[in-house]
Amino acid sequence: MIRSEDLPLFQAFPGLGRAIEHLPLGNFPTPVERLDRLGTAYGNQSIFIKRDDRSGRLYGGNKVRKLEFLLGKIRASGSQALITFGYAGSNHALATALYSQQLGLHCQTYLLPQANANYVRKNLLWSWQAGAEIIPCRHMADLLLRLSRAQFLAWLETGQIRPMIPPGGSSPLGTLGYINAAFELHEQIESGQLPLPSRIYVPLGSLGTVAGLLIGFKLRKLPITIHAVRVVHGTFANGVSVRQLLTRTVDFLQRIDPAFPRLKWTGAEWIIRPEFFGSGYARFTPAGCQAMRQLQELEGIQLDGTYTAKTLAALLEDMRTRPELGPSLFWNTFSSQPEPIGLSAIAYQRLPAGVHRYFEEDIQPLDFER
Ligand SMILES: *Cc1c(COP(=O)(O)O)cnc(C)c1O
Repeated sequence: MIRSEDLPLFQAFPGLGRAIEHLPLGNFPTPVERLDRLGTAYGNQSIFIKRDDRSGRLYGGNKVRKLEFLLGKIRASGSQALITFGYAGSNHALATALYSQQLGLHCQTYLLPQANANYVRKNLLWSWQAGAEIIPCRHMADLLLRLSRAQFLAWLETGQIRPMIPPGGSSPLGTLGYINAAFELHEQIESGQLPLPSRIYVPLGSLGTVAGLLIGFKLRKLPITIHAVRVVHGTFANGVSVRQLLTRTVDFLQRIDPAFPRLKWTGAEWIIRPEFFGSGYARFTPAGCQAMRQLQELEGIQLDGTYTAKTLAALLEDMRTRPELGPSLFWNTFSSQPEPIGLSAIAYQRLPAGVHRYFEEDIQPLDFER
């Protein structure tokens, strides 16, 4: 566990450390490992993995770093409850539910429809078990109506609205988690745990992971190209939206600490890779599933079909087609923490009726997870 005052971002900019709340929730630094067997299979001995799947005891993956700041702020505000959003199987909604429960905060999650998969069932049951209040929404307009009604009532009752965490935790505040992650990787490079990677492969979803890494690498002047493998529709994740989050985050930090530099990006620092997306968000792809199987068989590491499988598929494709690919790092953003025993024995009928369909309808044919 890293104490808040030892966070590299706060050491570099003490003004930020004095103003920004941070809760140590996870286990950092996460390990870096060489993927020996996978590398050998592709004739490249310099393939590494960043094990953010092991970022937390309750639940790992990339949301823990964001929640340390997001929940830190909410806790410090004295609020007893919070609201977040996602698709039905959202890992973010689950992570938020679990860490909220640990902090004694009531968590409401507004969920939108998505393609069915085994992990959707698992995450719904797990969130429910963690005490989350699940609010299924039929579509975005339905969500907005329910949310504004609830916030209006809260405001009438208490004079305040409930604090909200945006989808994926990707506000400027949540993005700070991945600025620190970039610093953490830099220290691991300096101490010889891995060579300077020329490329990093990471999913591009709600953008906070990629934006945080871009800011951190820029601050440390690390010449690493981020291959941002797009796993959501291009209307949400594109060059303009990445730049917007970069600007918002830098502005946010400069307002708090004027010593924070006015960073600029040429656009060569990241490459959005759209070609592994397939037919939609959370729709598994053959290339992704094959990548997932290969990592499981060779290295014993479990990925997910929505985010990390598509991302690894990009790295494998590049290894196949470019023998000169330099040292490369696959950033594992999926939690490898096992679900509690007995979870699948919970009767889904106890959950709100709006999510029963995920337990009654078929899962997509490519899904072989359990
Ligand atoms: C949320 C999530 C992502 C996407 O990260 P963003 O910061 O939202 O772009 C990637 N992988 C997994 C496993 C996730 O749950």
